[in-house]
Amino acid sequence: MYTTTTPARIGPAVRRLIDTVTPGGQARYLRVRPEPGATVNECFSNVRAKRARDGGRMLCGWQLWEWPRVMVEAEFHAVWLSPEGEMVEITPKPHGETQVLFVPDERRRHDGTVVDNVRMALHEDQLIEHFIRVSGAIVQVAAHSGCATRHGRVWVPEEQIAPWRQVQRFLGRSIHAGLREDDPCPCGSGSHYRRCHGRELEEALA
Ligand SMILES: [Zn+2]
Repeated sequence: MYTTTTPARIGPAVRRLIDTVTPGGQARYLRVRPEPGATVNECFSNVRAKRARDGGRMLCGWQLWEWPRVMVEAEFHAVWLSPEGEMVEITPKPHGETQVLFVPDERRRHDGTVVDNVRMALHEDQLIEHFIRVSGAIVQVAAHSGCATRHGRVWVPEEQIAPWRQVQRFLGRSIHAGLREDDPCPCGSGSHYRRCHGRELEEALA
């Protein structure tokens, strides 16, 4: 639906994002070296398995993503720190990225609770803001259902979360197609998004 990828460089927005999640943090690019048997999105269990086999330790931090011209996003993440102290990204990437941008956050440990992504819009636009708020709401609904056991994926009764996912898809597709708040609402009503579904969603989110 939408594609976030590794930021091409550490620009001002990525820098602000880093300072939001871990002030003064030093982000670095890591080449992805998928460990045999490692699973996409399951960084914590991948690193635990690696540590059990080869020693070293889990290093938590944030993996940084960018949806160009739309938003930047920080995802709570773990890499393997080898016994020699080298940071190794052993988790394969959903879209085959060959490098990631990672900022270690030594204050944080993985305790099994859900840590939502931190998202920042690259433009002031109600569609993007709504996409970000709905994405956060989905994680909250999931966390409160008591079924959210792992980061990165949540298992909840689908009917609780399906309406929000629908809205998220609707917004994501619209943004991807280049629509912004002052364009005609993608529902086809002829009104601006702000005056149509934007207003409805504003009330629903409140
Ligand atoms: Zn509409």
